[in-house]
Amino acid sequence: MKVYLNGKFVEQSKAVVSVFDHGLLYGDGVFEGIRSYNGLIFKLREHIDRLFESAHTIMLTIPLEKDELISVVKQSLRINRLRDAYIRLVVTRGEGDLGLDPRKCAQPTVFIIADKIELYPKKLYEEGLCLITVATQRNVPEALNPQIKSLNYLNNILAKIEAINAGYEEAIMLSPSGYVTECTGENIFLVKGKQLLTPPPFIGVLRGITRQTVMELAHHQRLHVQEELLTRHDLFNADEVFLTGTAAEIVPVVKIDGRVIGRGIPGRITKKLQQAFRQVTKTAGVTY
Ligand code: PMP
Repeated sequence: MKVYLNGKFVEQSKAVVSVFDHGLLYGDGVFEGIRSYNGLIFKLREHIDRLFESAHTIMLTIPLEKDELISVVKQSLRINRLRDAYIRLVVTRGEGDLGLDPRKCAQPTVFIIADKIELYPKKLYEEGLCLITVATQRNVPEALNPQIKSLNYLNNILAKIEAINAGYEEAIMLSPSGYVTECTGENIFLVKGKQLLTPPPFIGVLRGITRQTVMELAHHQRLHVQEELLTRHDLFNADEVFLTGTAAEIVPVVKIDGRVIGRGIPGRITKKLQQAFRQVTKTAGVTY
């Protein structure tokens, strides 16, 4: 596999960064996870825009223009002859000294890994996922805004560890006031009648690109889509619950904290949205 690293494509074994890179020392950097489906990159522009927004907020200048970055993403897929792929795009503050000061880092590190996509087990989509709420609260936007897709994922990892320790695969994270935010790497939705509800970004939620796509698809299906503050009670009493994310796509949820959701099987609207999502990934991406 060839990895793009600071302007060159190098063999995987040569794709190494310094131990003084602040991405490693402090999680000082930003990233994106992007997918391609059968030779089409899905929502590439949206991912690139979000990466630049994350970088802008942390005052990290990406040393490539958006169009140049798009072109190296495409090149990464072509060089590795990938049609169905997961692309990890990372920009770190770069190499510095042992202090936090970002001014000590002269040159950001940019790398792109394009690899085969590791699909989640089919069983997950057929049977649905059981979730638990964990004690680790989601970062509050006032401290570390989840819109910054940074290399600092310990908040999410701590929640993931709690879920795993309890025998679950995924965790629901709450805000300090107990409102539902999101899972460790996916957004969450509930269906109640003809309504599709999801927490608003201000509560501490990444504005997921899959989330946005699903909201648009649901709108086309004449569902009433709304961002709303949600409690665990709302989730427990929903007709359907599902998660969305680039890697996971749309995952049905059938049980939360021991409460059966709806009929305890993936719901009708979730399945319809999965179908519509599959369709849009087949046609809407950009070629390379
Ligand atoms: N929330 C978090 C915390 C995430 O890391 C991700 C995955 N990037 C998502 C939600 C889903 O976002 P997207 O649909 O853009 O992949």
